[in-house]
Amino acid sequence: MGGTDSPNPLAIGVDIGGTAIKAALVGIDGDLRQSFHEPSPRTASALRDFVHSVLRSVKLPVEGVGIGCKGIIDSGSSRVKSLPGDLQFLEGQLLSDVVDAGNLPIAAENDARTALIAEVLWGAARGRRNVVMLTLGTGVGGAVLVSGAVLSGAGGAAGHLGHVTVDPRGGLCICGNYGCLETYFSARAIESDYLAHVHRAAPTKLSVSQSGQPPSTEAIFRAANDGDPCARYVVDRALEYLGATMVSFLHTFDPEIFILGGNIAAAGPSLIAAIQGKIAGRTQILLGREVPIVFQKIIGFGGVAGAAGLVFLQQHWLAI
Ligand SMILES: [Zn+2]
Repeated sequence: MGGTDSPNPLAIGVDIGGTAIKAALVGIDGDLRQSFHEPSPRTASALRDFVHSVLRSVKLPVEGVGIGCKGIIDSGSSRVKSLPGDLQFLEGQLLSDVVDAGNLPIAAENDARTALIAEVLWGAARGRRNVVMLTLGTGVGGAVLVSGAVLSGAGGAAGHLGHVTVDPRGGLCICGNYGCLETYFSARAIESDYLAHVHRAAPTKLSVSQSGQPPSTEAIFRAANDGDPCARYVVDRALEYLGATMVSFLHTFDPEIFILGGNIAAAGPSLIAAIQGKIAGRTQILLGREVPIVFQKIIGFGGVAGAAGLVFLQQHWLAI
């Protein structure tokens, strides 16, 4: 262990996602020293083996292991309280027990919150104390910083912005609610909406594979930009739901800055331009200003950097 007199403390950040698990050796400036990744574990022992192999590969002393994980994570105990889907085997477990890293301190938090923490410590929201972040990927993650504190709520579920109702008559969501934002603006939602249109023989230039696999969200966004009528309709409708929901978040949290992260946000400036146009006029009266909507700055390793950031915050090397 580095001890409190270490001039440049290091921590291991681990990001457990639905398809891949990533880890990195991260410095206190958010610098990535070494990185690791492999397909997501399907058992607790596979997760432990991955973390132990990372710890063996890292030759320098570290201050602790921070873990970002999907689902509802009790950051006090590192217990995974709720985690539907492929990682359900972790539900009910203490991540500190699963990882079993000896004397090293373990910190754990929801993965959207670790992505937010990375942006606040080192990225687009550096120095800010009121921030809303949406991670737009396979699902929709959310995290909120209010007066310098990550919103957690009584049971740890607060800030799950992907699961606000945008249509009470909408489809059944993974969370048990109906018509959540995630059922309209996630990669899965956009791809399945596109597939449904193709199934109804809507006019389109993109093709669906023999196995019925829809084109990727990136391909659908590209096709929309190129004027494909079906892709245009699907993307416009999804953006309308996203924009309307962001108006609600702006009115609810009154942030200094609004960050969009995740794979879909990589669609780039055209996404922000389209959203900003929908939002600006609708928040003027209550907010009286245009809140900057920006992309995540720490792309690709925000989750692992933020997970390491948990260790630096826990050990009081850094503060928000
Ligand atoms: Zn939901």
